[in-house]
Amino acid sequence: MSEGASSDAERKMQFLFHLRQRGITNTRVLTAMEAIDRGPFVRGVFSERAYDDTPLPIACGQTISQPSVVGLMTQALDVQPKNKVLEVGTGSGYQAAILAKLARRVYTIDRHRALVRAAREIFDELGLHTITAITGDGSFGLTEQAPFDRIIVTAAAEDPPGPLLAQLAIGGIMVLPVGQSDHVQSLIKVTRGEDGFEYEEILPVRFVPLVEGLGKD
Ligand code: SAH
Repeated sequence: MSEGASSDAERKMQFLFHLRQRGITNTRVLTAMEAIDRGPFVRGVFSERAYDDTPLPIACGQTISQPSVVGLMTQALDVQPKNKVLEVGTGSGYQAAILAKLARRVYTIDRHRALVRAAREIFDELGLHTITAITGDGSFGLTEQAPFDRIIVTAAAEDPPGPLLAQLAIGGIMVLPVGQSDHVQSLIKVTRGEDGFEYEEILPVRFVPLVEGLGKD
């Protein structure tokens, strides 16, 4: 084995160790994050920092989230093997790829066509055929595939968008950041019961805003 390969393995081990330290203890989530290399999702000059626990810039002025936040959100989402999952905010596609390791079917929407196109290419390269990536305004959800067992939003709205609440199955879970985009936001977990919604705050986070309409690229 070359030196490069062993140091890659070492970096990966440190990455997983760090995730555990940050509170990601669910074995399925850790296994999924071990299987999905963050490298291909971070292109260009930032790819060397793919294993750092930090958000990094991607195309269209957006960011790939911090791995520990991806892990904590995925853990809170409690994805089951038979679940149909909706992600709003494809970005690089990293979060969707991890979800694909955990769920039966993943739909992911982004308002930037260029991001959706790039993410689709990586999904194909990695053989992740259970993900459908769509260009659109995800705050309206995806009516034709609703209801969803799980919904994850990776951009911040002031409140949970009504159409997403409506498209959550009974017994379903939605995880999303809420709050104003230039302030610290809260990551919340919404659980839909027979009689309504329960809300739980998980941790303070900072995400790019959920923006209306389609992007120019
Ligand atoms: N989950 C991503 C990170 C997402 S960054 C990853 O794993 O890399 C947030 C993304 O939300 C951006 O790509 C942005 O374009 C998208 N976004 C913002 N508002 C949106 C909307 N209304 N509908 C769909 N996508 C939106």
